[in-house]
Amino acid sequence: VNAEIIAVGSELLTPQRIDTNSLFLTEKLNQIGFEVVRKTIVGDDRPRLADELRQARDSSELVITSGGIGPTLDDLTRDAASDAVGRKLVYVPAVVEAIEERFRRFNRKMAEINKRQGYVLEGCEILPNPNGTAPGQYFQDEKGILIILPGPPRELKPMFEQHCVPRLLQLDSPDKYYTATLRVALMPESEVDERIGPIYSAEPRVATTILASPGDIQVHLRAKAATLEQARDIAEALALKVEAELGKTVYSQAHEGLVDVVARLFRERQLTIATAESCTGGLLAEMLTSRAGSSEYFRGGFVSYSEQAKIETLGVPAETIRDHGVYSAETAAQMALAARRKLGTSLGFGITGVAGPDEGTEETPVGTVFLALADQTGATVTKRNLGGDRERIRGMAALVALEMLRHRILGIE
Ligand code: ATP
Ligand code: MG
Repeated sequence: VNAEIIAVGSELLTPQRIDTNSLFLTEKLNQIGFEVVRKTIVGDDRPRLADELRQARDSSELVITSGGIGPTLDDLTRDAASDAVGRKLVYVPAVVEAIEERFRRFNRKMAEINKRQGYVLEGCEILPNPNGTAPGQYFQDEKGILIILPGPPRELKPMFEQHCVPRLLQLDSPDKYYTATLRVALMPESEVDERIGPIYSAEPRVATTILASPGDIQVHLRAKAATLEQARDIAEALALKVEAELGKTVYSQAHEGLVDVVARLFRERQLTIATAESCTGGLLAEMLTSRAGSSEYFRGGFVSYSEQAKIETLGVPAETIRDHGVYSAETAAQMALAARRKLGTSLGFGITGVAGPDEGTEETPVGTVFLALADQTGATVTKRNLGGDRERIRGMAALVALEMLRHRILGIE
């Protein structure tokens, strides 16, 4: 079912105030199967608000307003709603009595203007507001549902959860949604889309979104069905097909990021690691230690940036660097082996390369990175040519390292 949210209040059109109510409402609505198709902010202007309400009700079955139901003259939501739905406002003495009672409890006398809050749409259900004065309104006619809520979040939130969600859940078969997530490492967005486009396009019950950041892509598959179980089955069946196409680059079916996955694998398998980094300057160590509990598997890292540090501190043989160069598979391998040896870990990782923008040569242009993974049997080295600027090359190199660790631990390839 489509829903629209209208946030009312001229202050929300200034840079000082942000409409957060619609974020809350959207989250709750999505959970119970409503799709928010439009959000609007309207100032305290009766004709404009009435116009907006008419348009919203023309295109969506559920319209929710927030704000503008206080006692003052600029609180115009009631009047605009009356204009838009073509019902008059009726005075409900019980509402005003409840407000008077509230003032009495705080040892104050209700002002005459609060009587304005006793007017509600004819035929609406009144939603009590224990946290404020203005009651909410739940109105339904042949066009759809209109819910009028107070602006202050501490009044709106409990009112929506306690009085609106149960009513909305009782509606005839509102659609249910389920989102399956796949996370993909180190594949360009265009390639992901090219490969899975034909698969998700063939499933009209699922809305697919691809969220890309460098080296890390999330595929969201949101299925719509009559029940949650059906929606989940549809989304997960499609996720299986997408995963079959993308293969081992899919590292997570949840909101777990690559670092989380690698950290979990280290802990589950009780493995330990030491790192020796040059061009990444400790980025890999930073990632490996960014999660609680990392001391279980991370023993330490060397930022062996200069040749001197590589040879004297880390223990890379000087001949290796002399014979093969500092940017070489051999040097990376010796870095990984030395880190592992020095700290007595099950795995060692070495990274050396050219992050740029200077120092590139014909043989090792900017972006050339050698990554080595050592275990008790020796070191395996991967050479990558990474694109982009210095920051991207460094970040991608660390991601490649994490991905190599994940593959090694899971025995992929
Ligand atoms: P009141 O009886 O307090 O006047 P009201 O329903 O008329 O309630 P508004 O006057 O529109 O509500 O807003 C009251 C306060 O609630 C605002 O000053 C603002 O702090 C907060 N508020 C209003 N609308 C929003 C919104 N969309 N998102 C977040 N906060 C809001
Ligand atoms: Mg107000």
